[in-house]
Amino acid sequence: MQVIAVANQKGGVGKTTTAINLGTALAATGLRVLLLDIDPQGNASTGLGIARSDRRTSIYDVLLGETPLTSAAMPTAVPKLDIVPATVDLSGAEIELVEFEERTHRLSRAIAKSEARWDVILIDCPPSLGLLTLNAMVSANSLLVPLQCEFFALEGLSQLLNTVERIRERFNPGLSIIGVALTMYDRRNRLTEQVSADVRAVLGRVVFDTVIPRNVRLSEAPSHGLPALIYDYRCPGSEAYIALARELINRLPERPARVAA
Ligand code: ADP
Ligand code: MG
Repeated sequence: MQVIAVANQKGGVGKTTTAINLGTALAATGLRVLLLDIDPQGNASTGLGIARSDRRTSIYDVLLGETPLTSAAMPTAVPKLDIVPATVDLSGAEIELVEFEERTHRLSRAIAKSEARWDVILIDCPPSLGLLTLNAMVSANSLLVPLQCEFFALEGLSQLLNTVERIRERFNPGLSIIGVALTMYDRRNRLTEQVSADVRAVLGRVVFDTVIPRNVRLSEAPSHGLPALIYDYRCPGSEAYIALARELINRLPERPARVAA
């Protein structure tokens, strides 16, 4: 089982869009995928069509209570893709967690007890480096970092990399960065091209070859409660996430057995 946290403390860079569509593309290859929505905004849950009234158990119950992941997980419209949704009470969780001993390890304990029912767990992180994201980083084998090609992209990234370094030292020495995905890519925009060249020069091979184009279908799909890969599987955004999934699978340390070579 591989646990991958989709993280970047900046909001609006494509974390949730990536978690939903990459999760769908991975599930389409036959992998059993679980998406953990740990953002109090619950956009991944909404985007996968989970109505608020249907979120009877949520990631809050897993983190703050004793609910096992296996009972909090619910199916989505995508075969082999399950989700543990987020609810609004999660917005208080950062403060409530402070009271707990081992507050950084609540999620990793829950994942350890889930008996590898899934091949891949994707965690959709909130736009901060608070306790929720910390729990994700402590649980994860690796981080996938969506990066929007804009002027301050690299500055925000160095803060993220510093946090990763501290997590490695204190909690999770094996934490790696499986890849940086350039999102909302606009080939006609010279700034995009330039920032992307800079990012590749600084970060090198960790940046995925696949770029996710700016594509209106990707932003429309969530209002239909569907991944873009189902809403319009032939749009450029969907095709890019399929390519990204392929690249990601090739980077996984142990090739999940279910994936045909
Ligand atoms: P985050 O989770 O990092 O805050 P989101 O995935 O929610 O970011 O994306 C922020 C907004 O941008 C959303 O409205 C989303 O639909 C839109 N969006 C994300 N990726 C793309 C893309 N490649 N092309 C067009 N719109 C996008
Ligand atoms: Mg989000």
